[in-house]
Amino acid sequence: MPPLRARYRPVPDDGALRLGDHRRYPGSRLLLTCAMCGWQKAYRPERAIDRLRQLKAGGHPTPVAALARRVAWPCPMCRRVKWRMELAQPADLDTREAKRLAGLYRN
Ligand SMILES: [Zn+2]
Repeated sequence: MPPLRARYRPVPDDGALRLGDHRRYPGSRLLLTCAMCGWQKAYRPERAIDRLRQLKAGGHPTPVAALARRVAWPCPMCRRVKWRMELAQPADLDTREAKRLAGLYRN
């Protein structure tokens, strides 16, 4: 399996991107990246939203980038705590698959 950075392409974010925006990017994942060593982990946006709602700590309107500050555990690779959170789209998503997934979210 290629590394996440090869499989996903971050969506440009000036800080205004919100969790709910994942619906505009079919197949997207939240990519947590260690700013120190580059270690990465992918999350399903729907699950992150559910979790935040359960904790009454946010949901669809929560800014994606702000989520990085909620991650308190150290990087398993370098043991430091400096995270970056991005929304990322599958790099190889073809047009037909994108349309199919967009249809799923509409219905
Ligand atoms: Zn690290």
